[in-house]
Amino acid sequence: MRWYTHAVFGLLVAILLKFNLIMVLVCVFASLVPDIDTTKSKLGRKVKPLSWFFNVLFGHRKLFHSLFFAAGLSFLIYLYSFELALAFFVGYLSHLVIDSFNFAGIRWFYPAKFKIKGFIKTGSFLEHVLFFVILVIIAILSF
Ligand SMILES: [Zn+2]
Repeated sequence: MRWYTHAVFGLLVAILLKFNLIMVLVCVFASLVPDIDTTKSKLGRKVKPLSWFFNVLFGHRKLFHSLFFAAGLSFLIYLYSFELALAFFVGYLSHLVIDSFNFAGIRWFYPAKFKIKGFIKTGSFLEHVLFFVILVIIAILSF
Protein backbone atom coordinates (compact mmCIF):
# COMPACT_ATOMS: atom_id res chain seq x y z
CA MET A 1 0.00 0.00 0.00
CA ARG A 2 1.01 3.60 -0.48
CA TRP A 3 2.29 5.69 2.44
CA TYR A 4 -0.78 7.93 2.54
CA THR A 5 -3.13 4.97 2.98
CA HIS A 6 -1.01 3.77 5.91
CA ALA A 7 -0.87 7.29 7.37
CA VAL A 8 -4.65 7.89 7.27
CA PHE A 9 -5.38 4.46 8.71
CA GLY A 10 -2.85 5.08 11.50
CA LEU A 11 -4.58 8.42 12.11
CA LEU A 12 -8.02 6.78 12.19
CA VAL A 13 -6.89 4.19 14.73
CA ALA A 14 -5.25 6.91 16.88
CA ILE A 15 -8.50 8.93 16.82
CA LEU A 16 -10.61 5.87 17.69
CA LEU A 17 -8.32 5.13 20.65
CA LYS A 18 -8.50 8.77 21.75
CA PHE A 19 -4.72 9.21 21.77
CA ASN A 20 -3.29 12.59 22.79
CA LEU A 21 -1.50 14.72 20.15
CA ILE A 22 1.99 13.30 20.77
CA MET A 23 0.63 9.75 20.64
CA VAL A 24 -1.25 10.55 17.41
CA LEU A 25 1.98 11.78 15.82
CA VAL A 26 3.91 8.71 17.00
CA CYS A 27 1.12 6.42 15.80
CA VAL A 28 1.03 7.97 12.32
CA PHE A 29 4.83 7.89 12.11
CA ALA A 30 4.90 4.24 13.22
CA SER A 31 2.33 3.43 10.53
CA LEU A 32 5.05 4.28 7.98
CA VAL A 33 7.99 2.55 9.68
CA PRO A 34 7.57 -1.05 8.42
CA ASP A 35 8.18 0.04 4.81
CA ILE A 36 11.64 1.31 5.78
CA ASP A 37 12.66 -2.10 4.41
CA THR A 38 12.33 -0.77 0.85
CA THR A 39 14.04 2.26 -0.68
CA LYS A 40 10.90 2.82 -2.78
CA SER A 41 8.81 3.80 0.27
CA LYS A 42 8.27 7.35 1.58
CA LEU A 43 10.36 6.72 4.70
CA GLY A 44 12.86 4.53 2.85
CA ARG A 45 13.63 7.38 0.44
CA LYS A 46 14.36 9.69 3.39
CA VAL A 47 16.96 7.31 4.86
CA LYS A 48 18.02 5.58 1.66
CA PRO A 49 21.35 4.03 2.80
CA LEU A 50 19.74 2.57 5.93
CA SER A 51 16.71 1.42 3.95
CA TRP A 52 18.94 -0.21 1.33
CA PHE A 53 20.87 -1.96 4.10
CA PHE A 54 17.65 -3.30 5.70
CA ASN A 55 16.37 -4.43 2.30
CA VAL A 56 19.56 -6.33 1.44
CA LEU A 57 19.72 -7.90 4.89
CA PHE A 58 16.04 -8.68 5.54
CA GLY A 59 14.07 -8.16 2.30
CA HIS A 60 10.78 -6.34 1.82
CA ARG A 61 7.66 -7.40 3.77
CA LYS A 62 9.52 -9.94 5.85
CA LEU A 63 11.13 -9.20 9.24
CA PHE A 64 9.92 -5.58 9.33
CA HIS A 65 6.37 -6.72 8.60
CA SER A 66 6.18 -9.21 11.47
CA LEU A 67 4.32 -9.01 14.75
CA PHE A 68 7.46 -10.09 16.64
CA PHE A 69 9.52 -7.23 15.23
CA ALA A 70 6.75 -4.74 16.04
CA ALA A 71 6.67 -6.06 19.62
CA GLY A 72 10.47 -5.94 19.91
CA LEU A 73 10.75 -2.34 18.70
CA SER A 74 7.84 -1.31 20.91
CA PHE A 75 9.46 -2.96 23.91
CA LEU A 76 12.60 -0.86 23.37
CA ILE A 77 10.42 2.28 23.36
CA TYR A 78 8.54 0.98 26.41
CA LEU A 79 11.80 1.19 28.37
CA TYR A 80 11.50 4.94 27.84
CA SER A 81 7.73 5.52 27.87
CA PHE A 82 4.68 3.28 28.05
CA GLU A 83 2.46 5.79 26.21
CA LEU A 84 4.88 6.24 23.31
CA ALA A 85 5.42 2.47 23.08
CA LEU A 86 1.66 1.90 22.97
CA ALA A 87 1.20 4.53 20.24
CA PHE A 88 4.14 3.11 18.28
CA PHE A 89 2.87 -0.47 18.58
CA VAL A 90 -0.65 0.47 17.51
CA GLY A 91 0.64 2.49 14.54
CA TYR A 92 2.96 -0.32 13.50
CA LEU A 93 0.13 -2.85 13.76
CA SER A 94 -2.13 -0.58 11.70
CA HIS A 95 0.45 -0.88 8.90
CA LEU A 96 0.43 -4.66 9.14
CA VAL A 97 -3.38 -4.76 9.14
CA ILE A 98 -3.66 -2.64 5.98
CA ASP A 99 -0.87 -4.59 4.27
CA SER A 100 -2.79 -7.78 5.02
CA PHE A 101 -5.39 -6.59 2.49
CA ASN A 102 -2.63 -6.21 -0.07
CA PHE A 103 -2.39 -8.65 -2.93
CA ALA A 104 1.25 -9.42 -2.00
CA GLY A 105 0.30 -10.09 1.62
CA ILE A 106 2.53 -10.27 4.66
CA ARG A 107 3.90 -12.92 7.00
CA TRP A 108 2.70 -11.75 10.44
CA PHE A 109 4.68 -14.46 12.20
CA TYR A 110 7.85 -14.26 10.11
CA PRO A 111 10.02 -16.37 9.83
CA ALA A 112 6.99 -18.72 9.75
CA LYS A 113 5.81 -19.04 6.14
CA PHE A 114 2.09 -18.51 6.92
CA LYS A 115 0.95 -15.50 4.92
CA ILE A 116 -2.17 -13.35 5.06
CA LYS A 117 -3.01 -11.71 1.76
CA GLY A 118 -5.88 -9.77 0.31
CA PHE A 119 -7.13 -8.50 -3.01
CA ILE A 120 -5.96 -4.87 -3.16
CA LYS A 121 -2.97 -4.03 -5.35
CA THR A 122 -0.67 -1.18 -4.31
CA GLY A 123 -1.64 2.09 -6.01
CA SER A 124 -4.76 0.56 -7.56
CA PHE A 125 -8.23 2.14 -7.84
CA LEU A 126 -9.35 -0.07 -4.95
CA GLU A 127 -6.57 1.25 -2.70
CA HIS A 128 -7.68 4.81 -3.49
CA VAL A 129 -11.28 3.88 -2.65
CA LEU A 130 -10.04 2.53 0.68
CA PHE A 131 -8.02 5.72 1.25
CA PHE A 132 -11.08 7.95 0.66
CA VAL A 133 -13.36 5.76 2.78
CA ILE A 134 -10.90 6.11 5.68
CA LEU A 135 -10.73 9.88 5.09
CA VAL A 136 -14.54 10.14 5.16
CA ILE A 137 -14.68 8.17 8.42
CA ILE A 138 -12.05 10.50 9.95
CA ALA A 139 -14.08 13.53 8.77
CA ILE A 140 -17.28 12.11 10.26
CA LEU A 141 -15.54 11.37 13.57
CA SER A 142 -14.12 14.90 13.64
CA PHE A 143 -17.56 16.53 13.71
ZN1 LIG B 1 4.29 -2.44 4.18
